[in-house]
Amino acid sequence: MNAPLTSLAQRIISWQRQYGRHDLPWQNTQDPYRVWLSEIMLQQTQVATVIWYFNRFTNSFPDVDSLANASIEDVLLHWAGLGYYARARNLHACAKQVVVLWNGEFPTQAEALQTLPGIGPSTAAAIAAFCFGQRTPILDGNVKRVYCRFFSVEGDPSSRLVTQQLWRHAHEATPSIALTINEPDAMARFTQGLMDLGATCCTRRNPNCDRCPLRADCVAHLTQRTQELPSPRAIRLKPERSTMMLIVSTSIPNQAADNKTNKTSTAKAILLYKRPSNGIWGGLWSLPECQVNDGMAADSDSGVDSAVESKVSAQSADLMVIQWCAKHGILNPTILSMAAFRHTFTHFHLHIQPWSVEINDINGFDLSASNDTMRWVRADQLHLFGMPAPVQNLLANDL
Ligand code: SF4
Repeated sequence: MNAPLTSLAQRIISWQRQYGRHDLPWQNTQDPYRVWLSEIMLQQTQVATVIWYFNRFTNSFPDVDSLANASIEDVLLHWAGLGYYARARNLHACAKQVVVLWNGEFPTQAEALQTLPGIGPSTAAAIAAFCFGQRTPILDGNVKRVYCRFFSVEGDPSSRLVTQQLWRHAHEATPSIALTINEPDAMARFTQGLMDLGATCCTRRNPNCDRCPLRADCVAHLTQRTQELPSPRAIRLKPERSTMMLIVSTSIPNQAADNKTNKTSTAKAILLYKRPSNGIWGGLWSLPECQVNDGMAADSDSGVDSAVESKVSAQSADLMVIQWCAKHGILNPTILSMAAFRHTFTHFHLHIQPWSVEINDINGFDLSASNDTMRWVRADQLHLFGMPAPVQNLLANDL
């Protein structure tokens, strides 16, 4: 390693000691369970959002055994609102593998960690560095930005070629063996320092170069190209999809109130639909859908009806909702269209047109017909079901 790069690692380590983050709930520990959990939660999600979820998750599942023994429904309930639900499913699968294949102990080497579900090269390296001091580089999104600027790397950072180039720089920048011998916490400190630098100093817009320990030899800073690097990603237009979500509700007798007061009272019940375990919002509870085009495809027995291939007029949308109701034994409902909104996934935009479907006459309609994929839930019990954030918000605004 040449002198400036040795200096780079030392500067980041010193900077982290003085200016880095030290009090996050997953820091000050070498427990791989907590480090792993935080690394997975922090993928695609801001620290401020993760803190609450992390604390609640570790309260319910304090170690890998408790997580492995939990039901996937319970795990998804704790994850609901964080998005990218494949992470939660992989988390659960990973915990089971650690218990079954690794006797409840996470492997200590990044190479072995990478064989577990949901753990990629950078996450594996972070766990190995934080918990076991392994000399192995990380390359998450924030760190890519730092290296693109410091080394002046051109091209789309998500492309394979540029990523390979950045990994080479990441290896070069890793603290030397001598440094890690002299300072046993060097790898953990360096890894945390890179993350902190990317998150708090070398930010996407307006990096704070005056406070950066790398400013003396950062190429982007010296050539005033911090606004140009990293190069923008190639623009890929996201496809547009549409769906209609149905808030099917009715009033049911409120038994608890009846027993106390001997008066008739009612509670609102909502029909929930459980999405298939794979795909968008996999395994979460959601609302039944009338699908307008390719929507969020699911099998036709699970509450989502495939329909026409193009957007429908308001009039035919009415008709589709009425047909859906008839198919499910709901006669003479009161239907009302609600304010539409758009939700963006990684690969497409989804236009959601919600409909309120109120069942007035429940005679002949089997309210107890709950099964694995459709369930009537009292409005005050909805929080017990893991739902994606847009559906949670929609119900919160409607109820
Ligand atoms: S000097 Fe500026 S652009 Fe370079 S790494 Fe530091 S914050 Fe980023």
